[in-house]
Amino acid sequence: MNKQVRVRFAPSPTGYLHVGGARSVLFNFLFAKHCDGKFILRIEDTDTVRSTREFEEMQKQDMLWLGFRWDEGPELDGQGHGDFGPYRQSERREIYRTHVDRLLDMGLAYFCFCTDEELAQKKEAAMKAGRPPQYDGKCRHIPPAEAKMRLQAGEKAATRFWIKSQKKYILRDLVRGEVEFQEGMVGDFVILRSDGMPVYNFCCVVDDHLMEITHVLRAEEHLSNTVRQLMIYEAFGWEIPEFGHMSVVLGPDKQKLSKRHGATSVNDYRLQGYLPEAINNYIALLGWSSPDGREIIPLNEMIKLFTLDRVNSSPAVFDFVKLKWMNSVYLRSMSHQVLWHQLEPLLKADGQNFSDLTPEWIDHAVGSLKTSFETLTEGVAAFKPLSDGAFELSPEAEEVFKWPTTKSVIEEWINSLKAPGNPFLSEAEFGVIQKQIQTDRSVKGKEFFQALRVAIVGKPHGTELKSLVTLLTRKKLIARAEKALAKA
Ligand code: GLU
Repeated sequence: MNKQVRVRFAPSPTGYLHVGGARSVLFNFLFAKHCDGKFILRIEDTDTVRSTREFEEMQKQDMLWLGFRWDEGPELDGQGHGDFGPYRQSERREIYRTHVDRLLDMGLAYFCFCTDEELAQKKEAAMKAGRPPQYDGKCRHIPPAEAKMRLQAGEKAATRFWIKSQKKYILRDLVRGEVEFQEGMVGDFVILRSDGMPVYNFCCVVDDHLMEITHVLRAEEHLSNTVRQLMIYEAFGWEIPEFGHMSVVLGPDKQKLSKRHGATSVNDYRLQGYLPEAINNYIALLGWSSPDGREIIPLNEMIKLFTLDRVNSSPAVFDFVKLKWMNSVYLRSMSHQVLWHQLEPLLKADGQNFSDLTPEWIDHAVGSLKTSFETLTEGVAAFKPLSDGAFELSPEAEEVFKWPTTKSVIEEWINSLKAPGNPFLSEAEFGVIQKQIQTDRSVKGKEFFQALRVAIVGKPHGTELKSLVTLLTRKKLIARAEKALAKA
């Protein structure tokens, strides 16, 4: 029987969740769910200087916002979670200690007393001589008893992994195919620092083994670590999981994606009014494609379709315009009610208020405006002219008031609105009024529309009037027009 698939996302909580990290979460999640496996979250916080609980919390919040709940990992909904914990490396130090001791006992690790200065000098000398800057193995031959005495006497030592024989390693990577690591690429490397902190490559292997991880799916930048990790698996005689290294994400200029290119953290996108569904869908296409070439694929369908053989090894280029377009596709496919529900708190936060809210109004307003925005934030701007108290005359209106026709157009507009009728104008009624005023006042389209815009939104340009006039009551339209006239 095949083993149950167990994959993990293992972020270091030293910053926000980046889109590259989000892609790692997504691919691990999709693969786990596709295979009926487990998706595990492990916090790699051994870098005590750069790791913080705040960043851990923020990354977890971003994961949950995107819809990725972990099957095992640090607390979720206030509860500890899973049988392979603790899931924070800072809480597993004893485990690493015992495993370092095992390697020392097997003669596959040794204490290194070289100081940082000494190591830096050796490195420089090696580089000058054109040799790879690897550790020269000086402390290998310190007898263990002597090393213990020096430690007891208070000397500081790191623990190094002892590469007994150099050889070539071949990795059959699920994404990149066969990857060769030539012999001699790596020298004896530190697994436990002199301050007692274990090093990433070591913790990662110990945890992946003890947590029974079957597939390690992570970013390509970790490929160079993999050879060290393979050596550690070999030293312990542990089964090696499958590896899949996902290609780098580049900006439009083909340089590694960075802040310089635009928003790169999931949180930035959330604040800019992007939907998690759109982000997930877009990010999936950074290195994966569906068998039928479709681009708009909701998460539950992606789970069914996701296989690693469709993950591409060439670099993915992040296309900000396409992400925004995809966001608009998801926005527009929502029911008006649901979209309003998403907008409502943002409109409130923006100080917008709508005194004529009815389900019909919401349906009509969202329906009329939704094609004019691609993100929720743009949606907030689109609703602004409808908000109570939003009317303000802009200095640009002065130019329009200089035209001899403006005042009389607005006056007639007010009179037409005062005629008996439904509280809201229909588009057809507006059409009739427009024709009437243009004939009565002998004005062209430009003079009519700019005068009316000034009377409705306070400035001569902006949202299309046709839909706007049907979303404000006659009463409100009159009040705005009178306010404009008073300033004329
Ligand atoms: N903590 C590593 C990182 O954040 C994880 C590497 C891995 O997945 O093995 O990049």
